[in-house]
Amino acid sequence: MSCFSGLTGASKRATGTQDRGSGRQRLYENITKTVGNTPCVKINEKMCPAGRTIYAKLEYFNPCSSVKDRLACAIIEAAEKEGKLKPGDTVVEATSGNTGIAVSMLCAQRGYKCVICMAEPFSVERRKLMRFMGAKVIITPKAGKGTGMVAKAKELSQKHGWFLCSQFENEANAAFHKFTTGPEILADFEGQRLDYFVLGYGTGGTFAGAGAAIKAERPDVKIVLGEPEAAPLLKSGTKSERNADGSAIGSHPAFAAHPIQGWTPDFIPQIVEKGLEAVGYDEYIGIPGAGSIETSQMLAKTQGIFTGISGGASMWAAIEIAKKAPEGSVILAMIADTGERYLTTPLFESIQADMNEEELVISKSTPSFQLG
Ligand code: PMP
Repeated sequence: MSCFSGLTGASKRATGTQDRGSGRQRLYENITKTVGNTPCVKINEKMCPAGRTIYAKLEYFNPCSSVKDRLACAIIEAAEKEGKLKPGDTVVEATSGNTGIAVSMLCAQRGYKCVICMAEPFSVERRKLMRFMGAKVIITPKAGKGTGMVAKAKELSQKHGWFLCSQFENEANAAFHKFTTGPEILADFEGQRLDYFVLGYGTGGTFAGAGAAIKAERPDVKIVLGEPEAAPLLKSGTKSERNADGSAIGSHPAFAAHPIQGWTPDFIPQIVEKGLEAVGYDEYIGIPGAGSIETSQMLAKTQGIFTGISGGASMWAAIEIAKKAPEGSVILAMIADTGERYLTTPLFESIQADMNEEELVISKSTPSFQLG
């Protein structure tokens, strides 16, 4: 049975109206059924250029707070259907974090054992979250980059006969976005203007799947695909070499370390390549790491939208597009995950745990309960 449970008929756009208190008018059989149907939320004038409209599709509304909850549902469900997973089996995957957290959730809910391979540089809170949900986390050396953690997961799967998710090649990934993320966007913007769909890629599942669904029904919507400025793999025009199973061989020559965790690994995933062939993109945008971090901080401070660095990157790109788009344009940016996953990263570097001068002045402005 599908993890995704689309709302039927009754769900209608309610911009500006309030439907608090009405509940979801349904009960859920288990946590995985709550994946998807994330909201598109308008960005106010503190960030959106005048005369344009930007919406953010907030994937942190998923139960484990990222877009990768969709991927975990897609891959585990497909494997169950194809008889590749039986009760008590072990699932293994390589991940920059969000996939591992999502796969850990699915495994916990279904009763599979879970082993996650993750390269050293990704934030430590991710490791803890996976272990919290019962997964084993195998840390791979920084020098091996993304390809190193992928190779390790493959080796473990071959040695122990574990089910490998293969998120970068598994067709269930893009397919799930084609049948959930894309249709959700089409439903939410039904009868409304939508000119640009802005996103980056990790596996490329969102791009290839949601992109295909949107283009099929609304070919005039322009897809804007972003990459970190520091790692312009697609822009370079050089393809990744592949093994027979579609996995990439070696590090791409245009790759350099970048702070946009979850975006652009050190190879071009097969799903991205297929998405480029089948759907393509209308505009390309290189996104600075510092701008992504600042934009994420701005989203938090001016919109109350709490996302990670890739969310900042998407929004940075959406704002750039808005600045040069014709008056009246409507832009949708994908916001992949929550900011809570970045407490030990540069995103939070400027945020202190202790009181600053201003806070001390407030504390001392009344007599009771002062520290120190
Ligand atoms: N942002 C973050 C933080 C992610 O973890 C991912 C997935 N790795 C993405 C964006 C991109 O999603 P996709 O894999 O569908 O391209």
